Amino acid sequence: MTTRLIDDSLFEGADPPRLVGARCTGCGTVVFPRQEACPRCSDGTMATHPLPVSGRVWSWTVQAFPPKPPYRPPAGGHQPYLVGYVDLGEVLVEARLTASRPDIRIGLPVRLATVPAFQDEDGTEVLTFAFGPDAEGRR
Ligand SMILES: [Zn+2]
Repeated sequence: MTTRLIDDSLFEGADPPRLVGARCTGCGTVVFPRQEACPRCSDGTMATHPLPVSGRVWSWTVQAFPPKPPYRPPAGGHQPYLVGYVDLGEVLVEARLTASRPDIRIGLPVRLATVPAFQDEDGTEVLTFAFGPDAEGRR
């Protein structure tokens, strides 16, 4: 099956992909997704900045109903999934979480992964980013 990433501007590399944000050359603030201006100061410019691939769950909830567009439900219709913020040390990233409901907890070590989001009309499977339990993470 052909696959593509949901938005190339969010990623760097492909195998495995990394998330890429931006870092202010003035104050060091890191943002994701990338943006043109620093949210904290007017001194610097925003430079491309690959993000760490592992972190910890900072907060989570269940996405029980379909989010607003650009969300597109998968072929079988919307299924509830876990979503939350992952603390990557330098920035919090909102992402799907692939941990199971019994395992999910604040502080859980997680690692970047990709998961199927939906299929294009031509059958291409579109992948989005997610974080799943990190077996190598310290408990
Ligand atoms: Zn700044």
